[in-house]
Amino acid sequence: MSIRFGPAGIPIQCEGGSTLDGVRCCHALGLNAMEMEFVQGVRMKADSAKEIRTVAGPLDISLSSHAPYFVNLCSDEKIKIANSKRHILDSARITALAGGNITVFHPGFYQKLGPEEAFSRAKAVLGEIVAELKAEGVKIRLGAETVGKKSAFGGLQENIRLSQQVEMVEPAIDFAHLHARGDFRIRGEADYRAIFSLLESELGDYVKRFHCHFSEINYSDKGELNHFPLGTNNEPPFRPFMKVLAENGYSGTVICETPKLDIDALIMMREFETAGKEPGGG
Ligand SMILES: [Zn+2]
Repeated sequence: MSIRFGPAGIPIQCEGGSTLDGVRCCHALGLNAMEMEFVQGVRMKADSAKEIRTVAGPLDISLSSHAPYFVNLCSDEKIKIANSKRHILDSARITALAGGNITVFHPGFYQKLGPEEAFSRAKAVLGEIVAELKAEGVKIRLGAETVGKKSAFGGLQENIRLSQQVEMVEPAIDFAHLHARGDFRIRGEADYRAIFSLLESELGDYVKRFHCHFSEINYSDKGELNHFPLGTNNEPPFRPFMKVLAENGYSGTVICETPKLDIDALIMMREFETAGKEPGGG
C-alpha cells in the first residue's frame, strides 16, 4: 500500500516560482506528489516538460496536472467544444511529456440538458480526445473530476460511468466537492468506506491507483463556495479519511487543495503514517 501526498501547485513554502522549483521543493519537504496547475491555460513548453521529467523521476515526485477551467464538454457551441478539446489535449500531451500520469479536468455543465443528454455529449467528445491521444501514442489518464456545483455535470456516478465507457478516462475524486454538491455528505469513516466500496465494485483496481483532491469546504444549497484549510470546519473531515486509507490497502495520490497546500499535505501525510501504526490499523 502506498499513498502519495502533494500540493495542488507549487508549495507555498517554496521560494522559487517555477514548476521545477516546485518539484525540488516537494522533495525537500518530504512530499512525493505535485499537481501542475494549468487552470488558466497550458503555457508549459516541451523543453521545460522534458527537463521536469528528468528532475521529478529521480526525486520520485509523481506528477499530475489540472487542465484549464474553460472546459465544457456538454456545450452546444462548436467553438466551445473545439476549445475544450484543445485544452484537454494540450494538457494531456504536456503532462505526459513531463512524466505525469493523469490530467484532471472539469467535465462540463448541464445548461438546459438533462443528465442523459449531458452524459452522451461528454462521452462523445471524450471519445474524440482519446482517439487523438492514442493516435499520437500519448500515454496518460484523463481524470474526470467530481464537480462541486449542482449546475455542473460530473457527479461521482456520472464520472464512474464515463470511466466505464471511455478508455483512458478515470474519475478524479474531489471529496470536498462530493460533500458540497451533496453527492455524498461526508461525516466520518463510514462515508469514506462507502465511497471506496463503490469505486471498487464499479471500477475494480482503480482503488490501487486512485487520484483525489482534498480540502475542507464552505458551501451553500447550490454547492461549493470556497476552500478552507484543514481544521476550519472539518467538512469533510480528514482524519477518518486517513484512517480508512491506512486500514484498507488502497494506493493512490492525495492532492491537497486547501489554501495551505503543502503545509496541509504534510499534516495529512503525518496523520496517515500515524494511523497506519495504531493498533488495529494496517
Ligand atoms: Zn478541479
